[in-house]
Amino acid sequence: MDAAVQAITYRCGHEEFLEWSAMTSREDLYRAAEIFPCPGCCRLSANESQLDTQVFVNMQQLSEGMSALVVEVTQVCVLLEELLALMGYVRREGSLDELHPGGAPRDEQHAVWRKEFWFAAATSPFQVIALLDLVKDEARWLSNYLPEPNAVHYLGFPVLD
Ligand SMILES: [Zn+2]
Repeated sequence: MDAAVQAITYRCGHEEFLEWSAMTSREDLYRAAEIFPCPGCCRLSANESQLDTQVFVNMQQLSEGMSALVVEVTQVCVLLEELLALMGYVRREGSLDELHPGGAPRDEQHAVWRKEFWFAAATSPFQVIALLDLVKDEARWLSNYLPEPNAVHYLGFPVLD
């Protein structure tokens, strides 16, 4: 095998071969995901359950001095839920906008899986952009698990009604 290619063997037994360059910034995600079913099995499961999983990436003000880049994932199949929970995602109501993050979910239909990447209001733009790159890499990794292409949305919010 080419040294630039890394093999990942998932719990379902499926193997994936990834360009090392594609993994380097967020190897933690790819390695942690090995103990779960592969992206292909998750996409199949979502399709069978007629779930159209979508990812929304936003910026929100969460308190007086703190903001966050926020990732919200809608219509998640059971196979992907475990993985998201391990990666620090929690169940919340879908956010309304930049100033109204979702609280406890009132029901299944309005629930999303949410992860926050916090930064202080005084953080330099360069550091915020570095954080954004980290989040974009995470969204790119996550997109492997989505049944439809182009299901990652920046600066949009889930419409759950
Ligand atoms: Zn698989």
